[in-house]
Amino acid sequence: MHSSQQIFQQVVAIDGPAASGKSSVARELARRLGFVYVNSGAIYRAITWHILQKRIDVEDTDCIAGALESVAITSSLRDAELCILIDGIDPAEHLRDNRVNENVSRVSRLPMVRQIVGRKLHEYTSNNDLVVEGRDIGSVVFPNTPYKFYVDASPEVRLQRRAAQGERDEIALRDHADFSRPVSPLVIAKDAHVIDTSHLTIEKVIDRILTRLKEIGLGPSRFND
Ligand code: C5P
Repeated sequence: MHSSQQIFQQVVAIDGPAASGKSSVARELARRLGFVYVNSGAIYRAITWHILQKRIDVEDTDCIAGALESVAITSSLRDAELCILIDGIDPAEHLRDNRVNENVSRVSRLPMVRQIVGRKLHEYTSNNDLVVEGRDIGSVVFPNTPYKFYVDASPEVRLQRRAAQGERDEIALRDHADFSRPVSPLVIAKDAHVIDTSHLTIEKVIDRILTRLKEIGLGPSRFND
């Protein structure tokens, strides 16, 4: 199981529900630390996009298994951010399409999909220190990292943030699916530091995380200004 594998490099885990502010925080935090930023949701989205492109029914697990066996999921680094390639194609511009928003939680609940993504995330730690954002990063994928954060915000604030981004995203439906699925549901890891971002700026959230990281031993010598 990937969850019991050794962590080769440092991993900062940032988990939380949709529109909790984790992407903005995780990207900037990675920059300050000089770590690579990994958006694990983007990997689930890229796989979902591929399945939809192939016109496979997201409930048809046999067909999905077949498609996943024959696809090459690779990655490249761009500005210290991990980008996913599907059969050599970068699907970045499609990852927030409505149809991906609508289907990603149905695809990400499948154990075979979670295994693939978990394995990839572990591979990336062999060469890079990472800030990884997601739903199960501190609880399942990297349970041994001491650097775990759970960022949250009230449902009203999260809805406002999505509306401000001009996206149609039924976050209540995705939340329900992500919290209630049997495999790797969204939970607060028991040793995670919880931050409510409802009334905090991104800068304030990052300050809190950096303060906490220093307290628990991620040395200041590693920090970029
Ligand atoms: O983070 P983002 O909202 O882009 O994630 C899209 C979806 O991917 C989530 O709603 C969830 O279903 C899935 N996901 C997951 N585990 C992760 C990251 C994302 O199941 N670690």
